[in-house]
Amino acid sequence: MKIFNRYSAFLLGAVVLVSQAANVADVDYFTDNGFGNPSSTLQHPTGEYYKGTTYIAYQGPHEDAWVAAYNHANKKWLGPVLAGVNLMGKTPDPVKNDDVDNHGKPAMMVDEKGYIHVVYGAHGGSPLLGKNTLGAPGSLRGGKLTHLVSKNPEDISAWVKLDNISPFGTYPQFVQMDDGDIYLFYRHGSHWSDWVYQKSTDSGRTFQPPVSILKHKAQQGKPTEHDSWYAWFAKGQGDTITASYVYHRCDNPGHTNDRNNTYFMKMNGKDDSWENAAGERLTVSVTKEYADKKTLIFNSGEERTNHGTCRVDKQGNPHLFFRYDKGQVRYSRWTGKAWTMPVAVIPGGGSADGDMVVESPTTVRMILTSNNGNTGEVGWWKTADGGQTWAKERPIMAKPGGSYDISALIENFTAEGLVILSEGQPSDYLYKRMMLVGENGPAKRPAAEASYIQEQLTALREAGVQPETKESRAAGKKAKKKNKTN
Ligand code: ZN
Repeated sequence: MKIFNRYSAFLLGAVVLVSQAANVADVDYFTDNGFGNPSSTLQHPTGEYYKGTTYIAYQGPHEDAWVAAYNHANKKWLGPVLAGVNLMGKTPDPVKNDDVDNHGKPAMMVDEKGYIHVVYGAHGGSPLLGKNTLGAPGSLRGGKLTHLVSKNPEDISAWVKLDNISPFGTYPQFVQMDDGDIYLFYRHGSHWSDWVYQKSTDSGRTFQPPVSILKHKAQQGKPTEHDSWYAWFAKGQGDTITASYVYHRCDNPGHTNDRNNTYFMKMNGKDDSWENAAGERLTVSVTKEYADKKTLIFNSGEERTNHGTCRVDKQGNPHLFFRYDKGQVRYSRWTGKAWTMPVAVIPGGGSADGDMVVESPTTVRMILTSNNGNTGEVGWWKTADGGQTWAKERPIMAKPGGSYDISALIENFTAEGLVILSEGQPSDYLYKRMMLVGENGPAKRPAAEASYIQEQLTALREAGVQPETKESRAAGKKAKKKNKTN
């Protein structure tokens, strides 16, 4: 503890020096027009470093897809620009979080030639778009899974729509292999849908048909209970892709908040075959019964889990975390023979989330949001003993009374740009300040360049619309519940 205090005092000195050097008119955020839940760890990557620039996609006003770019050499921001309109968006922008869908936020990547790809815009896809053979379509407001590509390489100013993926989907996730092959993973519709991927071998110009890997189905003898999943995909060692996932027992009709257990499997990109951590070949699409037998890491019983992220060490062994019940983050790794017992990284509650960097089989750093009393923090937690114990490093960001939402790690990240954070201001309705944050804090920007919502704020204030507060939100939920029981 003493060491930590001395370390933080040293760093505090360093931070003061940096802020003296920076322009006083600079702000921590590159834009204030993030909207609702602008980015998360699930739809990912949401940023990629490519040839000196970090490209970022996020959900802006009207739930549309916006893109910005940060040039690291001259420390200049470009954009953000509106890349694509979201069919699920509402006009005017809602001021209550419950009125925002948030499933259509973008994932993005940069291909081998420097073209920027964005997939966004759906919570299952509208049933009017045709028949969904791999799941249930969304509601009439389910949008359409949409693929955009930049008109020119390394240029966010103009976008082209490519009609080459299924319209039915949500939670898009890109994985690009060393040879340039692109896998687009997503859930093929609303809750009662398979998780699939579509593969492209021509830099995303065409995609092969969806391949189902996690199967949704009614439980045997219990048609009102439905097996479903939340899954997270990333590149593994060499030509492999990791999949970590949690089980979702959904109601049909209806929906539950249940999420349980944690599972893992991986794909071999040479022949697109799947195996479990022990190397046993799997048959996809994986059912709940099959997953329990072959890919289960941790049985949480009735207790709630949620997806985290998964990264590999040089041996290719997976390290992962999942969120556990009241905001805990639990870490486990495959030793080559077995999964280690999941260990709580952050003591206590809160709403921790983030990503991890695996330095060696026993040394891992996790960048996480957390609460320190009433202060929202983002910073590193480190283990040097294979995950048995974790030490908190100095926070990179800290905000008394506030909190941050965090993205997965920027693809190909640098020390100047690790993750994207969003932060709400009580007076800014559902608009969020968006930050690119590195080891030493955010990539700053002149305040005047980062201001995009003045017109919206003025219109809302003049119309007398009050921003949602914690209290009004809780009261609204209570009233809704009461109406339901009536
Ligand atoms: Zn559900």
